[in-house]
Amino acid sequence: MHVLFVNLPKIRNKYVTVFGMIDYSATPTFLLMLAKQEADKGNKISFVDLQINPNAKIPSADKLVTIFYTGCYKEHKKIFDEMLVNQGENIKKETYLYPLEKIFLKEKVPRAMFELIDVTKYSVIDTYLSLYCPNKCTFCVKTMSQNPVIYKDMNDYLEEIKYLESKNIKKVSFSDPEFTINRKRVLEFTENYKKNNFNVQYEITTRADYLDEEIIKALKKTNCYQVDIGIERASDRELAKIRKNMTYKKIKQTLKFLKKYKVRAGGFFIFGFPDDNHKTYERMKKKILELDLNTGRVNYFTPYPNTDVWQECVQHDLIDKNLKKETDTFSHQEFAICGTRYLTKEQVNKYVEKLNNILIISTKLPKLKFLVKSKTISKIISHLIQKIAILTKKLRR
Ligand code: SF4
Repeated sequence: MHVLFVNLPKIRNKYVTVFGMIDYSATPTFLLMLAKQEADKGNKISFVDLQINPNAKIPSADKLVTIFYTGCYKEHKKIFDEMLVNQGENIKKETYLYPLEKIFLKEKVPRAMFELIDVTKYSVIDTYLSLYCPNKCTFCVKTMSQNPVIYKDMNDYLEEIKYLESKNIKKVSFSDPEFTINRKRVLEFTENYKKNNFNVQYEITTRADYLDEEIIKALKKTNCYQVDIGIERASDRELAKIRKNMTYKKIKQTLKFLKKYKVRAGGFFIFGFPDDNHKTYERMKKKILELDLNTGRVNYFTPYPNTDVWQECVQHDLIDKNLKKETDTFSHQEFAICGTRYLTKEQVNKYVEKLNNILIISTKLPKLKFLVKSKTISKIISHLIQKIAILTKKLRR
């Protein structure tokens, strides 16, 4: 059987929240992992990437596989339906769609078949060593799978990195929900990395309490240039409320070690939870200025359907009755989709924008932190910094 994998185009050219993952580097790793499963069954496989080439011809196949991103189900479904109408001639046989909730990666993380695409067209390649998370943070889509953590075999990830190095790829982003969740495996990974003399630089996302000095040292020795941490809230009490099981003592200790070993620290926050108000905004602002971060972002609280916090929002009547949880767009990086018990949606949007301006100044120009007292000046500076960053990115290409 000929199985064709189609990567749908990126929506609004923004980050796309997928089932517990952020597909930000445009590498459709999930499709490439599903391709491995089909290849193992002896099927012929091929791949069309509509992100890279929106006008690509869709060849004929017995079975077509694509993924609808949870965050943008409606928009992707529309694109997909149009694609079938326009190219219907070629797609006559079985068509399989994989809304990400239904992906059946249950036992181990398969190798991504990077050979199927032209990896040199991507600036960063994302991949995974593990999937799923056993924690139960109230807001997190990753809690929805209820699958135990699964891992990629050592030989598979070594093959992946070897292949990417042979194509001269310089940066990899490990998009595991919590990369350092298994201490033994992380140390085994860093050992293998050294043994194979890999050069590729990589970044990871993890929890502050899944890092200690030994792990950070090992990551640093193997070209890990950035660790992103979900800090989320601005006090221990707020962290307990969202069941993060984390303390500021631990967060600060981890940031200290990252600084000591010169690994860039990314801090990610969320504002707009049902209890957020002016005081929690002020508290978050203070924390952002106080913590020594190199990069980060403040995301809009988003009540993802079926998370615990969705129920809380329903109880407090915060969710728009017209919102269709199965098909509407959810994105924690674009706008607030609900207000809090004390703030309107518009106020949440404004506060998040202000917090991001402050975060940009405190990470890019820490010496100018004192300027954040002036709303207008901080808005102008952060705007300039963002413009320069976009320009530098373009020039590097
Ligand atoms: S630790 Fe919490 S935020 Fe991180 S992936 Fe697990 S459930 Fe989500």
